[in-house]
Amino acid sequence: MSDRQLLIPFRSNLLPQIFCDTVVVGSGVAGLRTAIGLGDRSDVILLAKEALDLSNTSWAQGGIAAALSPDDTIDGHVNDTLEAGAGLCEPDPVRLLVQQGADEVRRLLGWGMRVDRDNAGAPALGLEGGHHHHRILHTDGDATGTELARCLIERARALQRLRIFDRCFALDVLVDRRRGQRRAAGVLSWHPRHGLQIIWAKAVVLATGGCGQLWRETSNPRVATGDGVAMAWRAGATLADLEFMQFHPTTLYVAGAPRHLISEAVRGEGATLVDRQGRSIMDGVHALGSLATRDIVSRTIIRHLASTGESHVLLDARAMGSDGFRTRFPGLARMLGGYGLDAGRDLIPVHPAAHYFVGGVRTDMDGRTDLPGLYACGEAAATGVHGANRLASNSLLEGLVFGARAAEAILADDSPQAGPFTIVHEVEATERGELDLSDIRSSLRSAMWRNVGVERSGARMQDVLGMFDFWNRYAMERVFDAPDGWEVQNLLTVGRLATQAALARTESRGTHARSDFPDTSEAMAGHFLWRSDAAKPAWSPVGQLACTRVGST
Ligand SMILES: Cc1cc2nc3c(=O)[nH]c(=O)nc-3n(C[C@H](O)[C@H](O)[C@H](O)COP(=O)(O)OP(=O)(O)OC[C@H]3O[C@@H](n4cnc5c(N)ncnc54)[C@H](O)[C@@H]3O)c2cc1C
Repeated sequence: MSDRQLLIPFRSNLLPQIFCDTVVVGSGVAGLRTAIGLGDRSDVILLAKEALDLSNTSWAQGGIAAALSPDDTIDGHVNDTLEAGAGLCEPDPVRLLVQQGADEVRRLLGWGMRVDRDNAGAPALGLEGGHHHHRILHTDGDATGTELARCLIERARALQRLRIFDRCFALDVLVDRRRGQRRAAGVLSWHPRHGLQIIWAKAVVLATGGCGQLWRETSNPRVATGDGVAMAWRAGATLADLEFMQFHPTTLYVAGAPRHLISEAVRGEGATLVDRQGRSIMDGVHALGSLATRDIVSRTIIRHLASTGESHVLLDARAMGSDGFRTRFPGLARMLGGYGLDAGRDLIPVHPAAHYFVGGVRTDMDGRTDLPGLYACGEAAATGVHGANRLASNSLLEGLVFGARAAEAILADDSPQAGPFTIVHEVEATERGELDLSDIRSSLRSAMWRNVGVERSGARMQDVLGMFDFWNRYAMERVFDAPDGWEVQNLLTVGRLATQAALARTESRGTHARSDFPDTSEAMAGHFLWRSDAAKPAWSPVGQLACTRVGST
């Protein structure tokens, strides 16, 4: 792998320089909640590489999990989270997520987020896979993310000391390595109109979301290219749990159409997964049937498809009737109608797809990474709350809780700002051969889907590492001048690490299923930690990932 610490050559004193207290990269729930938490108590710049509302957050459907109902308990939500996480959840962060999460959701309602309500006017709470209680708040049935993003964006825009730079791409975290110390000092960014800029800040927050675009089949929007994880790697921060990508069992499978998510809440309302003959494929697999956790359902579908040679399975929601489906899931009904499907009448063709990246930048419970001044939260972070498999609707909650906590930690940090200082970064770029970026991107995505997908094996992942060597020679040693090239470099960085991590975990657990190691191994109850300055991953047993103040070292 290229050992570049920054993607492109530049001289800081030749670039425009902007100053603030905190730069937040990302306008999803995690970035927005951090910015709102910082409020008007400091100068903040928030970057989004496309429009503010193009994010996994805006696309979220099913809802936000919170133990709000009088007969639900914090312990119940904690236990469901731990069970889904297959022995790898960090207990302290999980309890924090669930406890503080309920307060965060009440705060959101106070900020004016609209949610669906029952006849008594209380929030209507739905059920999703892996939950033993109704606890999922939702808006307009299946448009929770759109409303959450609206509410947070509106609140952020009202802040006087927040500057929002949309369509502004963050390339790298700038690190002060003078005097033998290391401290994040800002980011290098690029805007189509203003070009390269340096944003100096005392704190840098990576809230860049996931990396679903690494896989050919994904529910994620095009912005999910793992940029923050790759930036943290180049900056020298520790990454964790990179082998765990959660595959969602039900995305629409219509030739040529994007893989629209069919929310788990549809199965929560009683829909079942069936084969072409109408037989339930989950019978006898798990007591929760079609509502078993996502890893189990996705694996069952993939095995069914491999054994029958079919391309997809079918979701049967006909019992809800056309009107019932349209009332509960208006957005989905509209989307399906666009493909000539009526869920009250037709079986819906579905297939698993890469959905949520469990791994990311290792942080403590306040978003601190082990690079002082660098924070991460939301899907880009790894706190251990999801273990080896995320419980449905826990990730919007994660963004709210850990975004809020990162903001408090930043405000409490009285270390001096590291920048500005002079950076002269030279890169020896190769000019070898023609390069077709879109070809590399689609070959990479296909290779990840076929070999590092729902089920993996050591031999096939070794082959993929060989492919990375080849791609890296062409793409990683070049210098690009626009986001499509930088994104491919980030995808290659994260894809290679995710493959290495999946090879290192010689067991099956949660979202990580190895056909050559089908059993779970007690000896592997822990997390692999990856750093660009270490030849091998380190190991952190469960209970130690996020409990200490990793940023204080
Ligand atoms: C279709 C779908 C449905 C889902 N449904 C649910 C659900 O019902 N409940 C639930 O809890 N979770 C759900 N999830 C998961 C959840 O939406 C995400 O995990 C969560 O929204 C992640 O929030 P985030 O703030 O970490 O990142 P995101 O919301 O993905 O935001 C990332 C931000 O980072 C910016 N960014 C990235 N790279 C750069 C860069 N280099 N420079 C500048 N900006 C950059 C992007 O522009 C974007 O603004 C769903 C996900 C999908 C895709």
